[in-house]
Amino acid sequence: MRIFEQLFFKCKDVLKKENFTKNIITNKDKKDSQEPKRIFNYFKEEYNYIMNNNTLDFEKAEEYLTNNACINCGCVLKSIIKGTKTCPECKKKIYIRTNPVSGKKLELGEKTIDEYESYASKVYEMISYERELKNQFMAYPKYVEIFYKCKKEGLSSRDVMWTFRNTLCSLLDDLGYKEYKKLRYLRNSEKTLKSFNIINNFQLAVQELVKMYKIAELNHKVDVSIDLLADIAYRDVQIVYLSGELNDTHQVTREDYINKIHSNLIIECLESNKINMNYFKSNFIQKKHPFVLPRLSNEKTWEYIKLALDRQIEWNKKMNYKK
Ligand SMILES: [Zn+2]
Repeated sequence: MRIFEQLFFKCKDVLKKENFTKNIITNKDKKDSQEPKRIFNYFKEEYNYIMNNNTLDFEKAEEYLTNNACINCGCVLKSIIKGTKTCPECKKKIYIRTNPVSGKKLELGEKTIDEYESYASKVYEMISYERELKNQFMAYPKYVEIFYKCKKEGLSSRDVMWTFRNTLCSLLDDLGYKEYKKLRYLRNSEKTLKSFNIINNFQLAVQELVKMYKIAELNHKVDVSIDLLADIAYRDVQIVYLSGELNDTHQVTREDYINKIHSNLIIECLESNKINMNYFKSNFIQKKHPFVLPRLSNEKTWEYIKLALDRQIEWNKKMNYKK
């Protein structure tokens, strides 16, 4: 908790100038029956924009379903349309989907299904960001200020979330580094105690990178994903190294390194994007990883990562075999 108080303290001056909490949209004034099922607080503008510019006629899509008619040819069908099927008259496909906002069933035709899918994926993404933010804000209310600092008009929820995560990550790095610099003046016992805070800070920064990776994955930005995973793995190793350096009572082992690395995430990404290990390796070795406390070389760090990845592959094989 202390870290976030510090984090807030750091932003206090900026926040004082602009009253961010003023911008928080409340739902007190919207209570009519037209209220959508999902309430958009943080991405309300973007949500309204999507709804206002949406060319999909949802009313029509509901109407066809109520009348049990094919949306492609207009024929009223004998058998009730319960799910996606082919129309017996025109032989075209009828798709049934649930509107992510109203929760109502929609009937879509071959002409509108693609447009609907792209609409729905945008809305689902917003809903997932909303949920994520809500949980995070509940745990750490100070996040709200940083979030509103990153939120600029006209940016999509995706871009806002990306900027928010990125900002949070560098703030955490900064704080960690400042604390680290103070350590050299402390006695051993004090050093150990303080080191937990610092390690925790850097680990929280890694969490933000993981969330950024998920945004990149969702949007099929493979190069960005690979870059982020390389940074995540590099930091995983460096943080273990640092914890050993700062804490005299704890002897860091090879297992500590292996266990810490996000190998599952990496292997999943490599497999789903059909990227081979050598490509990831050369990318990792060549890259300058922006971490504030570089200690081990890329080559040395890679040794641990390779061990972790090999072990993960073995594990996955075993699990598949069991299935
Ligand atoms: Zn038809």
